[in-house]
Amino acid sequence: MKLLHWLKRLIIWASYFLLLCFFGLVVLFFAVTTPEEKTSEEPTLVNDVTQLNPIQVSGIKQPRSIQEIVDLVKTHEGPISIGGGRYSMGGQTASHQALQLDLRQFNQVVAFSMAEKEITVEPGITWREIQEYIDKFDLSVKIMQTYSNFTVGGSLSVNVHGRYLGLGPIIYTVKSIKLVLADGQLIAASPQENTELFYGAIGGYGALGVIVEATLSLDDNVKVERITKRMSLDQYHDFFFGKIRNDTSIVFHNADIYPGSYDEIQSVSYVRTTKALTVEDRLRPTDKNYRPEKFAMWVVSETPCGGWLRKTILDPVFNRDGVVEWKNHEASYNVKELEPSSRKHDTYVLQEYFIPVDQINAFTPRMREIFLRHNPNVINVSIRHAYKDPGSLMAWARTEVFAFVVYYKQGTTELDKQKVGVWTRELIDLAASLDGTYYLPYQIHATKEQFQTCYPNADTFY
Ligand SMILES: Cc1cc2nc3c(=O)[nH]c(=O)nc-3n(C[C@H](O)[C@H](O)[C@H](O)COP(=O)(O)OP(=O)(O)OC[C@H]3O[C@@H](n4cnc5c(N)ncnc54)[C@H](O)[C@@H]3O)c2cc1C
Repeated sequence: MKLLHWLKRLIIWASYFLLLCFFGLVVLFFAVTTPEEKTSEEPTLVNDVTQLNPIQVSGIKQPRSIQEIVDLVKTHEGPISIGGGRYSMGGQTASHQALQLDLRQFNQVVAFSMAEKEITVEPGITWREIQEYIDKFDLSVKIMQTYSNFTVGGSLSVNVHGRYLGLGPIIYTVKSIKLVLADGQLIAASPQENTELFYGAIGGYGALGVIVEATLSLDDNVKVERITKRMSLDQYHDFFFGKIRNDTSIVFHNADIYPGSYDEIQSVSYVRTTKALTVEDRLRPTDKNYRPEKFAMWVVSETPCGGWLRKTILDPVFNRDGVVEWKNHEASYNVKELEPSSRKHDTYVLQEYFIPVDQINAFTPRMREIFLRHNPNVINVSIRHAYKDPGSLMAWARTEVFAFVVYYKQGTTELDKQKVGVWTRELIDLAASLDGTYYLPYQIHATKEQFQTCYPNADTFY
């Protein structure tokens, strides 16, 4: 009798506890996914997505034509800085007391040829706007980032890349550009014309002039199927060269390293298919609230078993095999899904390292050692592949490389920034020791010497 009585009480207490946990989770879900707080930005204060780099400029102009840009450049005394989507993370879009050209309103399609698979655009247009324009013609962007919010001008100036297999930096897809130089001169540049300016301006962070127009080659929009595979990190090089690199049916490919032990990966490929779609939308909807994604991000980055949950529950559920979708759907992610409710005390940040392909097994154990020693809050490390850059002066792919994209969360105090600087410089030294390099659109922690070692053409560029 007594035992039964205690058993009953235990069940009641357990039910209370479970109910409490459930309500706790609901409250947390809403707390971490409430709409972003508005950052109070003075009209002349330019910041980027991390909110770590507020820069006071002397004024902001939003030109909508080439002539307006020419006039502004010709008449303005003093420095000019250029802003696209402002997603770079180290103050690359603004200079202290410079005139800021905010190009987000200069965003129209200038010309399009379905037969040539080519589009000419103004630089403030985003990939998403291009996708909406070309999707009805069954075409897609040939190389872009994973997310579609970035502008073409900002992407060309950084020489971006994505998860596309068999390609590399975006310069591969740029047929020509128009540039407004510092003296207001408008010039055309391409691999055939004004080649020095072409190879300088792509990846040139706006230093050589304003890119005011770009003609890009496009690709077919095809159906793709997701196929994943788990393996240990040291097997990846042989797996990639044996099964992935030369498989022309693969459209996107990357591999995610699970933080914690940093020795296991999930390889993810999107393979051309004729199977029936499991996702009917041609592009990702723009009106989603992303509460589940934001909650998942919070769980992974903030709870003690977040990494384990991701590996054993979130990835098998959300990144499972067999999804069949349009390439444009897979290429139209929205950065909103990553945006926390506040960036006041913590912020999410990216870094990237490019390592010659034959050095991957020398790089990864030492990267792991640096992470384990400094213990940053790493959420993901994604591996991608890129072929050698065809000639840009500030190339990050000076040979065939694997890219290691590190996504992590950090505090916003000066001490937090200093701590990040320490392990970042260790990673840069490691990359440099293997003839690799680091990516420039992120926080500027590199020393001048590291920059010059990793970008040996910088002097020629300047
Ligand atoms: C969540 C997230 C995911 C990312 N994923 C990737 C990825 O998958 N691959 C990748 O390669 N990068 C990635 N990045 C980095 C991103 O591609 C770059 O920061 C890119 O520059 C952002 O584009 P933007 O329009 O915001 O450019 P901005 O940050 O506004 O500008 C970038 C640089 O270009 C210059 N610039 C802008 N427009 C012009 C113009 N018209 N003429 C001349 N100069 C100009 C600016 O002055 C600045 O120096 C990612 C960033 C974030 C935040």
